[in-house]
Amino acid sequence: MKNIIFIAPPAAGKGTQSKLVSEAYNIPHISTGDLLRDEIAKGEALGISIKEDMEKGNLVSDEVITTLLRNRITSPDCQNGYILDGYPRNINQAKIYNQLLDELNYDKGVVIFFDIDRDLALKRTISRIICPNCGSSYNLLVADLKPKEDNICDRCHHQLKTRSDDTEEVFIHRFDTYINSTKELIDYYNELGLLHKIEVGTKSANEIFEEVKKVLND
Ligand SMILES: [Zn+2]
Repeated sequence: MKNIIFIAPPAAGKGTQSKLVSEAYNIPHISTGDLLRDEIAKGEALGISIKEDMEKGNLVSDEVITTLLRNRITSPDCQNGYILDGYPRNINQAKIYNQLLDELNYDKGVVIFFDIDRDLALKRTISRIICPNCGSSYNLLVADLKPKEDNICDRCHHQLKTRSDDTEEVFIHRFDTYINSTKELIDYYNELGLLHKIEVGTKSANEIFEEVKKVLND
């Protein structure tokens, strides 16, 4: 069983790796955000109280998240494993999660930390370009994500434009906040011997995936 936790700062390519791992190992990608949204959509008592909490701006309790997570990871489609995204966020949650794994007799799993330098992450973000016509995305910094012809979409030949959803300042703030909030968690998993660090650098998604596979097949 491959139960995997991904820890990745913004622009480290976590979304792409989740997709690749999910397809290659036939395991679902689980985000706590989705779990909460799904529960709310059911319209049952628990979902209603979650919705009220979120509307008040309160954090959803660890107890609730653990209940949802327990249901999710014991579902049939998780029998080969799963990828957890956005959870645990802190040591307290990590301890609760470890307890849950013990109770379920699941192994402690693998934690993969995608390490990326802030300047490089910023460069990767601002060198993202997108086709406004068909939505294809490119990255000028990554060899296999560059368009074949400068500034022209490979798929539909439309002119490309920069993705401007993040200014430099906003990105740096988001990045630093993430790093500060996960530092302890990373140390915690490191001490447990569960942490595997992968340097993102300027590697392509496939190169990174090869390293992920090495970790998972060990
Ligand atoms: Zn296009």
